[in-house]
Parts: sequence; C-alpha cells; structure tokens
Amino acid sequence: MCGIVGYIGSHQAAPVILEGLSKLEYRGYDSAGMAVFNGEKIQIQKSVGRLKVLEELTHGGATMPGTVGIGHTRWATHGAPSDENAHPHYNQEETIAVVHNGIIENYLPLREKLLSKGYQFVSDTDTEVLAHLIDYYYKGNPLEAITKVMHRVQGSYALGIIFAEHPDQIFAVRKDSPLIVGQNENGCFIASDVPAVLKYTRKVYFIENQEVVRLRVDHMHFYTVDEEEIQKEPVTIDWDADAAEKGGYEHFMLKEMYEQPKTVTDTLLPRIKDNDIVIEELGMSDEEINAIRKIFIVACGSAYHAGVTAKYVIEGIARIPVEVDLASEFRYRNPIFEEGTMVVVISQSGETADSLAALRESQKLGHKVLGIVNVVGSSIAREADNVMYTWAGPEIAVATTKAYSAQLIALYLLAMKFGKVRGKIDEDAFYSMLKDLKRLPGQIERLLANKQRIQRFANRYIGAKAVSNTQLTLPTIILV
Ligand code: GLU
Repeated sequence: MCGIVGYIGSHQAAPVILEGLSKLEYRGYDSAGMAVFNGEKIQIQKSVGRLKVLEELTHGGATMPGTVGIGHTRWATHGAPSDENAHPHYNQEETIAVVHNGIIENYLPLREKLLSKGYQFVSDTDTEVLAHLIDYYYKGNPLEAITKVMHRVQGSYALGIIFAEHPDQIFAVRKDSPLIVGQNENGCFIASDVPAVLKYTRKVYFIENQEVVRLRVDHMHFYTVDEEEIQKEPVTIDWDADAAEKGGYEHFMLKEMYEQPKTVTDTLLPRIKDNDIVIEELGMSDEEINAIRKIFIVACGSAYHAGVTAKYVIEGIARIPVEVDLASEFRYRNPIFEEGTMVVVISQSGETADSLAALRESQKLGHKVLGIVNVVGSSIAREADNVMYTWAGPEIAVATTKAYSAQLIALYLLAMKFGKVRGKIDEDAFYSMLKDLKRLPGQIERLLANKQRIQRFANRYIGAKAVSNTQLTLPTIILV
C-alpha cells in the first residue's frame, strides 16, 4: 500500500533509503522506519509521523551505518499508527527484519499458531506474523524459509527481508502489492515504485506475483515460489520523475480508478470465509443483528452517496428501514432514536468534522456507532464502537474513486450479512450474490481495460443534467 525501499551496495544504505522513501511520500503514510545491518547486527529505527522525524532521529541516516538495509513508510491496516506498529519488524532474536506492504488475510490463525509455539508479539500488525513465520521456517536457507512462508500466507504482500546471518543479501517478494528492483554500478535496489530509484538508476525489473529476488551488491537472482531460478529482462525507464509518481497515468485520479480491482479485492476477500460473510470487527451477535429496528447512515460528500445507495441495498436485502443523513444536518436536527437504532458513520479520512460530531452525538444518546473508515487510527476509527475498514489504501485525488467503491463493497457485505442472519434472503440468492461479488474485481478490470469505450461514453454524456435508465447505455459497457 505504501512504500518500501531497500539498498545493498558500496554506499551507505540509510541515506539512500531515506531519499528513496521521500520519493514515495506522495503515496501517503502514517509512520516510517529502517533496518540496517551494521556489521554486527540488524539495527532498527522507526517512528510514527512524517519521514522527517525518522531523518532527525537518525541524523539523516548517519546513526545507522551499514551498506545493507530496508526501509518502509506504513499506511496502517492492522493496528493503529504507532512506533511499535511501524515497520520494520524483527523476529524474536532480532536476526531477521521485515518490511511489508499489503494485508495478510490469515494472520489471526497464524498468530495463534505462533503464540502456541512460544513466539511473542510486540505489535498489533499482521506483518509481525511474517517475521516470526520466516524465523519458524528458517534453518539456514533464507530462500527456503521465504518460499515456505509464501505457501502459508494468504493476502497481498510486497516484502523486503534481511537476515543477520546473510548480510550480503536482501530478499524481495511480491504478491498483489507492487515491487520493482533496480541496479546500477554501485549496488542493487528494491522499491515499491519507480520514483524511489530514479535518482540512482533507470534499469529496473518488474517483479511478478509470487516471485522472489535475491539481491547482492553486484547481481540479482530471480526465483519462483518453488525456488526455481528464472530469467528476467530489465526495462529502461524513460518517464520523467513526475510521470513516474503517477505510475505512468496522467493524473492520480486515473491511477486510483485503475486501482479499484485491488481495492475491491482487499475490502471483500478477507471477509469471505468458507462461502460465508464473516465481519469479525462488526462486534455484533446474531441476536443484536436481529434486534435492529432502524439504521441511520450518516456521512458527508461522496460517502453520503455511498449511503444513499446502501439504503436501497440494505432495505432490499435485509428489510431494515434506513435513513440516510448528511452529517451536518443530522448533528443539528434532533433525530428520533428508538430502541434498536443502529448508527453507521462513513468517512474515507475518518476525520470528517461533522461526521465525527454526529458519531459523538449518537453515543451521547446511548447508541452504538459502526464506523466505515479508510484511515486506520483516525478519529472516527478510534471513537466508533466498532470499525469496518475499507482497505482502499491512500487516496490522493480529491474526487474519490477507489475509496467510494470500497465503501459500497463494505455496505453490500453488511446488507448481505444482515439479510442472512435475519432470514430475509434465501440461501440460493445469498450464494449467487456472493459469487457475483467475487467476480467483481475481474469485471472491473475488464471494464477499465476498455478505456476508449469509457471515454466515448464520458464524451457523450459530459453535458447531461440527468440520466434515466432508458437513455443509459452503461449496461452495454458493463457487460464487456
Ligand atoms: N498491513 C501492514 C500493517 O498494517 C502493512 C501496511 C502497509 O502496507 O503499509 O502494518
């Protein structure tokens, strides 16, 4: 989701990592950290807040000598932004350090397993599971340990890993989170995105899903998840730095539109288990779900529109009356709360002032609030009684795209869960909707691949004041 940078070469690693991470700042983050092998052991420094804090803490990297290191900017998904939850994460003996972008979906059972084997955890992250799991499988061969872990974990990950016992190597791995590696005459680099290395090299390799890279000072080897070596061709980057930040897209909004298949997958898949919808963070028993008499959805801007759609979905599927309110109205209008009223507050940033005020107002009147929020550790996420995160990653463009889609997915999941528990949706309809939801990321991907057709559609309707079903040719686009 956010940034990874690693370096192994003849120069000091920490300043290169700091420089690289600064080029990934546009992606948004809440904390930053580095691990550098100092000749004896792996030293870690990390801190919540801006990269500047880490720079000051390490005097621009000077307090972390060494020529092998990995760094990270974190966009929290599991555990609030804090020093402890910031990456890198160690194994217990502090001989392995890991940075991770993405989400480990099955981290809870893995964590329990590791706890039962005596591993201790110091953070709330899903990532720390990886550090201990690599340790668990490590018998002297890093590649073997890493590929075993890849077979065990589900979810998305780009990883940078260093081992104190192998200080002449960095390992990089990816599945569904971006990662590239680069090389120049002084060393090799890993990064989540090209801008981080453009100052040093234009020769990069794009890592594909389930591939592993072993980087040494002067060469790299690529492997499959089954440890078979593969050959890869470098790509010479001819974009300028500005275009590179946007991943080659003309602007961030376009880039974020194209991130929707991933956003939808990340919000959806962790909540589908054994062909059922499991929303652990909902914190509601079936009795409590059955006791809901009315739902207030309270939000501002686009999140309000997600709520307007959700009214149709929840009322249609779960047969619960829904009122959708702009938070700025709700907080001043003295709404009627009855026994069994549930309040859902939706906000991408989790800091929308009116939505936060509405949340507090509802709680003051004794009603529990469910937050549907994108930014982990934000005010609404902290103050809501329960939080359902939309794992959309940072959204830079002001007009929302992927975060809105993720909100819709969260609300559909909620509606289906409520409908099933309350017996308002029969099994066949439920499974067929679930199947449809699972097909959605692929469908969005195919839809977005048809850029010209979308542009034609946009051109045709750009001046339209309203759209009715009969005019709309959208379905033909959707059915590509
Ligand atoms: N899921 C990890 C965490 O919450 C990684 C987040 C990221 O991609 O930055 O720590």
